[in-house]
Amino acid sequence: MQRKLAASSLLVAGSGAVIAIVMVGLCGMVLYESRQDALNHTRESLRDIALIAERDIERNFELYELSLQAVVDGLKDPEIMSLPPRLRREVLFDRAASARYLGSVLVLNARGDIILDSGSDMPRKGNFADRKYFSVQRDNPAVGVYVSDPYASRLRDGTPSIALTRRISNPDGSFAGIVLLSVNLEYFHTLFAGLSLGPHGSLSLIGKDGVMLMRQPYDPRIVGRDIRNASTFRHFIAEQEGSFRDTASIDGIRRLYWFRNFPNTPLIIMAAAAEQDIYAAWRQRALTIGSLMVLFGTTFIGLAALLGVQLRRRMRAESELQLLARIDGLTGLNNRRSLGEILDAEWRRAKRTRSVVSLLFVDIDRFKAYNDTYGHQAGDDALAAVARCITDSIRRPADTAARYGGEEFIVVLPDTPATGASEIAEKIRRAICSCGIEHAGSEHGCVTASIGAVSCTPQSDDEVTAVIKAADEALYNAKATGRNRVSLSRIS
Ligand code: GH3
Ligand code: MG
Ligand code: MG
Repeated sequence: MQRKLAASSLLVAGSGAVIAIVMVGLCGMVLYESRQDALNHTRESLRDIALIAERDIERNFELYELSLQAVVDGLKDPEIMSLPPRLRREVLFDRAASARYLGSVLVLNARGDIILDSGSDMPRKGNFADRKYFSVQRDNPAVGVYVSDPYASRLRDGTPSIALTRRISNPDGSFAGIVLLSVNLEYFHTLFAGLSLGPHGSLSLIGKDGVMLMRQPYDPRIVGRDIRNASTFRHFIAEQEGSFRDTASIDGIRRLYWFRNFPNTPLIIMAAAAEQDIYAAWRQRALTIGSLMVLFGTTFIGLAALLGVQLRRRMRAESELQLLARIDGLTGLNNRRSLGEILDAEWRRAKRTRSVVSLLFVDIDRFKAYNDTYGHQAGDDALAAVARCITDSIRRPADTAARYGGEEFIVVLPDTPATGASEIAEKIRRAICSCGIEHAGSEHGCVTASIGAVSCTPQSDDEVTAVIKAADEALYNAKATGRNRVSLSRIS
């Protein structure tokens, strides 16, 4: 019974815990998925922003390239070259004038000196043979349009710029100079500033040679920096476009990157959002939901445990009540009601197995006199002592003793023939006698009992009453023949 009780309460508490764990698990799964969603959503946004910047830059660079081409073509046209300087300047540099954030367009000769200047009819003085954009075109006839690293413009008070250059060749293919178009870095700065990537996000335009052309948030020290050896740059050159997560070498912040190599220009655009920004809203939500779930889960487990304990208490109380209803309060033996059930069950079993059942009817001798002499309380104590003698004398688990009434007891002995029954009866009688409870009113000087024993192989259910009656008769015989003795009766 105890084991059953413990199992039921454990089942209640356990089920509560399992439900709570499953709910916390489900909630964890949902939170994990919403975290992935935040990441995917950011990746999409990064791609969109990078695309906006790329389209703008590509469109402008197309215009710049057309301008360069127009100048190269114009230089070859004798009609244009024979025009007066002001007109020639207007025709040659016509397209370039319309481009935004344009510094100046210059034509340099093979020595690097300015020979034509979009800014003035009389070309400004200057030599740019030391610039890489000059030497690259001079040394490599097939470069096409070259995009330079950032530099401080000498003609425009050190304005940060980049240059697009194109080679001018003589009819024999030898180097004749370059056409140079400079673009203020301000262009990229303004473009990037209009694109928001969160508090710790960054947007960068990088040359394919690894030089940083512009970065948002803007820092003049970063523009022009060579990031070829940065871990992020390795990703940029490995694929045309893609996404990855890395810690930036520039500021040590871990970010999600999206990059793309421009299809027609040697540039890479890279948009990045800091993980701390991506997950900021999610983290807040996870914290709220998570703490609510933990609170709910522990409350739920606590309630289930409490319910388990209550259930256990209640079941124990019920089983105690059931026990009390079957037990005689004074002697601790089965009461008469319980005896009836036991007898019925044993009777049916013995009838089925065709075995012998014996019954002992125990009655204390001269008990009325005992009460009269020693008082009712002493009588109760003696009754309890006699009950102990009886239970101590029956050892087999199937043997049952019950209080039949007043100072009368019945012992049921299944599978016990007459000889065994009389042995046990004798054992009980001796045990009571050996207690040595003084009884002045008895002819034996101490509390004794007479026992009527009867054995029977049950044939029908209604024999029980007859068997009890037979045991009672045997008892009467024991009383009549001097008390403190065992008398047997046989049922046919
Ligand atoms: P006999 O030897 O013939 O059995 O004589 P007896 O006095 O035992 O028989 P009787 O049936 O006349 O008396 C039974 C007495 O048992 C009556 C009552 O005083 C006493 N008795 C019955 N139940 C209780 C009980 O619960 N407590 C106490 N103290 N005495 C009880
Ligand atoms: Mg009696
Ligand atoms: Mg009696």
